[in-house]
Amino acid sequence: MDERACFERLDSTASDPAGLFEHFEQRTVGGETVYVLPDSRHGVERGTVILGDDAIVRGYPSIPRVLALDAGVTSFFETDETVVAEEKLDGFNVRVAAVGGSDEPLAFTRGGYVCPYTTAKARELLDLGPFFENHPKKMLCAELIGPETPYSTHDYDGVDSYAIRVFDVRDRESGDPFSVSGRRDLCERYGFPQPRLFGRYEPTEVPEQIHAVIDDLDDAEREGVVMKTADSESMVKYTTESQHHDELAYAFSLPFDLGRDFVFSRITREAFQAAEFDESEERLRERAHDLGESILLPAVETIRDVDAGETVGERHRVRGDADELDALLEHLRDQSLTIEVEADYREKGHRVVEFCKVAESTIDRVQYYLDGGTYDE
Ligand code: ATP
Repeated sequence: MDERACFERLDSTASDPAGLFEHFEQRTVGGETVYVLPDSRHGVERGTVILGDDAIVRGYPSIPRVLALDAGVTSFFETDETVVAEEKLDGFNVRVAAVGGSDEPLAFTRGGYVCPYTTAKARELLDLGPFFENHPKKMLCAELIGPETPYSTHDYDGVDSYAIRVFDVRDRESGDPFSVSGRRDLCERYGFPQPRLFGRYEPTEVPEQIHAVIDDLDDAEREGVVMKTADSESMVKYTTESQHHDELAYAFSLPFDLGRDFVFSRITREAFQAAEFDESEERLRERAHDLGESILLPAVETIRDVDAGETVGERHRVRGDADELDALLEHLRDQSLTIEVEADYREKGHRVVEFCKVAESTIDRVQYYLDGGTYDE
C-alpha cells in the first residue's frame, strides 16, 4: 500500500499516516492482501477497506439515534430543512463495490469482510453490470433482509428467503452520498429495490408524522425509520417498541455473550419512548409487562436449555449453491465462531443449511452457575 497516497485520499483527522494505519488490520481476500479498519478512527468509518491495488471502500457511517423524538428531531435538523423519512429495515448492512481481482463486484459486511454468501446474493438480486459500468467509483449501500441470511433473521411479509433493499449510493472513496431523490431515481433506473419512502416533511411536522408512522410500523412488528436531510449528508434513526423488545429478547437469550451496554441501551430507548408516547397508565403497564416478558422468558429458556444439555446460540438458515454455502461456513469459522450444522439438505434445487453460532460464553457461564458457582457482582 502507498501509505502516504492512501492517507491523503482518506482525508482523516490523524496527523500522519502511521497514526492512522496502526489501527488497520491486514487480512487476505481471495489470496489478495487487504487492509481493514475494525473500529472507526480519526474520522474514518469502521469497516473501511483498502485493497491490493489501493482501491478504497469506505465504511458506512454510524447513524445517530434520537431517544426523545420531538426534541431530538427539532434539535437535529435546521428549521428550514426538508426531512425525508424512509423505513429502517432490520437486516444487515452490505456495501457492494466493483473492486478486487474478481470480474464481478464484491459485497462487504459492516466489519469490512467480503462475505461469500452476501456477495453471491448481491450479484443474484441486483443487475450490477450496467450500474458499475456507468458508476465504477460508487458503492451501493444496502440491507440484506429476510429469514435466510447468516447474520439476521427478521421476517418480512413477502420475503420467504432473502431480499435486498438499496438505501444509499455513495462514492466509495470519499463516502459522499447521492441526494435522497438522486439515489431514488438512480435506483429506479437500474431496477434496484429500495426501502419504503414515508414522505418529505418540514421539521415541525416530523414528530407528529413520525409518531404515526412508528405506531403503524410497531403494529406490523417492523424496525423503525431513518430520517435524512434531502442531500443525505445527515441522518438520524428512531425505532419501534417491538424492535426494542425483540432485541432484548435476543440479548437475554444469550445473556453472557452480549454486553451489558447492549441491554442498557435498549431499555433506555424504551424508557424514553414510553415517557414520550404512552399517555395512559394502562398502556404504560402493558409496555412494562411486555418488556419484562422479553427479558425473563428467553433468559429462563436458555438456562433450561443449557441444563438439558442443548446447544444455545444464534440459529440461521441459508440457501444457495453447495460451494457458496461451504464458503460461507468456512468464512464464519475463520472468524473464530463455533458453527454447528444442524441440518443440511436439498430443497427445490438448492442446498439448505441450518446452523447455530454457538454461544460459548453463555453456555459456559450458565453451566457454571447451575453447578453452584458463585456470581461476583
Ligand atoms: P450504527 O449506525 O451506530 O453503526 P448499528 O450498526 O447498530 O449502529 P443500526 O442501529 O441497525 O446499526 O442502524 C444503522 C443501520 O440501519 C445502517 O447501517 C443500515 O444498515 C441500516 N438501514 C436499514 N434501513 C436503512 C435506511 N433506509 N437508511 C439508512 N440505513 C438503513
